[in-house]
Order: sequence, then structure tokens, then C-alpha cells
Amino acid sequence: MTTERESRITQVRPRTEGWTQKKDDTGRPLLQFASPKRGKPPVHLADLTPEQRVEKVVELGLPGFRAKQLEKHYFTHWTHDPAEMTDLPASGREELVRGLLPPLLTEVRRLQTDRGDTIKFLWKLHDGALVESVLMRYPGRITLCVSSQAGCGMNCPFCATGQAGLTRNMSAAEIIEQIVRANRLIAEGGLGKAEHPDERVTNIVFMGMGEPLANYARVMHAVRVMTDQKHGLGMSARGITISTVGLAPAIRKLAAEDIPVTFALSLHAPDDELRDELIPVNSRWKVDEALDAAREYFERTGRRVSIEYALIKDMNDHGWRADLLGDKLNERGRGWVHVNPIPLNPTPGSVWTSSTRAAQNEFVRRLEAKGIPTTLRDTRGKEIDGACGQLVATEEDAAVAASTPLED
Ligand code: SF4
Repeated sequence: MTTERESRITQVRPRTEGWTQKKDDTGRPLLQFASPKRGKPPVHLADLTPEQRVEKVVELGLPGFRAKQLEKHYFTHWTHDPAEMTDLPASGREELVRGLLPPLLTEVRRLQTDRGDTIKFLWKLHDGALVESVLMRYPGRITLCVSSQAGCGMNCPFCATGQAGLTRNMSAAEIIEQIVRANRLIAEGGLGKAEHPDERVTNIVFMGMGEPLANYARVMHAVRVMTDQKHGLGMSARGITISTVGLAPAIRKLAAEDIPVTFALSLHAPDDELRDELIPVNSRWKVDEALDAAREYFERTGRRVSIEYALIKDMNDHGWRADLLGDKLNERGRGWVHVNPIPLNPTPGSVWTSSTRAAQNEFVRRLEAKGIPTTLRDTRGKEIDGACGQLVATEEDAAVAASTPLED
């Protein structure tokens, strides 16, 4: 049995493996909030408000009510193919589709696992940037993990996505298109064994590439399109999880939006000393500020907040850290939060390896002893390198992508 004193001494420090973290002028890990300027993706139906869609249709020489028909094709039948849109007049149909449903994602690669119940997609955007999404079937629900940025500017030392920095923000339509493409695949029977014929994506998690709150306006527009019952995908806000490493002002803004999405804070450490190294944005907004903002989210929305905590052997899995986390959460009230410890995969020889089973159990036990609801999370998708914080386009992916022509 490890004593408290010994467990404080065994402290593995975060460090990158096989790559060098970019630093700013002060020697701290570089944080990128602004998207580098690149050619914007073409404007798409899903980027526009319902009123703007009508205007655009009129601009293209057709009566405004055609916008509603196009919405139905895209958001309900998940099609971009003019040949399937027989309720639209043949003359002008191609131009309408080209003008409002330009191609956004080209599929580069698809990896399947869990007997077809998990699929990872690698997509190429119009400018060659690569992003991924992961589709997962569970009993009674289908979850899609979406990307919100190409690359990421948050520079977390454990995360492959952050290595290359932020390539650019994704547009709202590029975010939505990941769902539409997944729904189309499900409708065609491409995701394992169907439970019923009208299946579609029920849950969205913003845990793919990127920090969603660093691309706030486009992510929020995408969420509105997802939840719009009349002019969008008609999904439930509760099934949408926005996950952040702790951009406190943006969490507060999200709390004021009046859209009751599920909110998750990727905390991974309750003390600033470790979290400064583990999650570089902690140098801007400390643990207490992130937790205060998370608590505010609960107060404004009534939605219980999730705290994500990857358990990393001898780095953040100490019993005293579970106690500290429990105390910090309880200081802010009861019943507002639950913790999801996430066991990593064993990676022998790496500092980023799984906690022992005993350490995992002890961590959970200590949180529960403080009255914090705690659930060890399922890490499905790891075997295809598609779990959150691990999404990356490898060099091999890049080579395949380079030889994949863009869709037209
Ligand atoms: S863990 Fe998330 S926030 Fe950090 S670099 Fe990776 S994608 Fe960005």
C-alpha cells in the first residue's frame, strides 16, 4: 500500500514525446486563439440563417419557398444530389445546389472497428486541411464526435492534435456537414446492425479536433442549426456536449446563451502547479476560475456539469488529488457536477500511460466518499486512435489525402 507521503513523492511531470512544444517569447507553451488567415470555405446553406437562405435562393433566380425544400433535402434526407431533388424544377436545380450546397468535406479514409459499430472518418477540407470525426453506436443512441477546428491552438503536451498548432477555424457548415454525412451513412446501413430503420445521430460531442470555445461564433451557429426543429437537424440540445479545456469567459458566454447543451470541462488536474503544465491555457484561466465558470453554467442552465479527468499514472492519479478535486467541487455547492475519470490505454515506456486499476478505484472511491457522483468512462474508439484529445492526421493520412481529389 502506497502511503500518502510516497504518493506525493512519485510525481511524473508532463512532457511531450517525439515532438517539441512551440513556445512563446516568455518561454511558455504557445497559445493560439486567432485563426490564421486562409481562404474561407464556400458559403453553404448551413452557414446562413433561414432568412438569409431565402434571400440567397431569390438571388439565384428562384422563388423564396424553394429554400425550405432545399433545407428538407439537406437536413432531413441528407442529400446533396440534384438528381434526388425531383420536387425542385429541373431548370435551375443544378445552379441552386451548386450555390447553396457546395462540397465541403472530401472523405479521405474510413476506419471501422468494434464490429462496425465505431467508424473514424478522415476528411479533407476545401483548402486541403484535414479533420476527423468518429461515429459510435451504443445501445439506444448513436454518438458523433465532431471536430470544430483544423488543428488546435491550445498546445496540450499529451495531444497529437495540438502539435501542429491551429490551422484554421472550421465554418459552421463544415461542422454540420460531418453530421449530415454520418446520417447519410447510417441511413444506407453503414454503421453496424441497425436497431430501427429511422436511425440517425442522436448525440454530438465536441471532442474531436480543436477547442470549440476558441471558435465560439461558428460553433454556436452550428449548435443552433443542430437544434432547429423547423429549419435544421431537429436534434435535442441535451444530446449535444460542448467540451472545453477551460476558457472561462467563453464558458460564461455559453451559460448565457439559453441553449441547454451538456457542458464538460476537461480538467485533468485540480492544482494549478500541475495543470499549468498539463493544460497550457491554465496559465490564462486557473483551476478556480474554470470551476467558477462551470458552476455558473450550472446556475444559469440547471444542467449538471461534467468534469473530464484522464487518469495518467503517477502524474495526476494521486489520492490527494482526488480529495482536492472533491473539496474544490464541494466548496461550490452540491449536486451540480459529476466527474468522469477516463482511464488511458496502457502505453509502456511513455509518461502518458494508464493508472493502475488500484489507483483508478482509489481515485473513484475518494471522490465518492466526498459525495461526488463519479463514473469511470468508456474509452471506446481508442483502438483506432480516435478518442478525444488523441485525434490526429498522421503523415500517412496526409499522403493519402494528397492523392484524394476534392469532391465536386
Ligand atoms: S487536448 Fe483538446 S484543447 Fe488540448 S491541444 Fe488537444 S484538441 Fe486542443
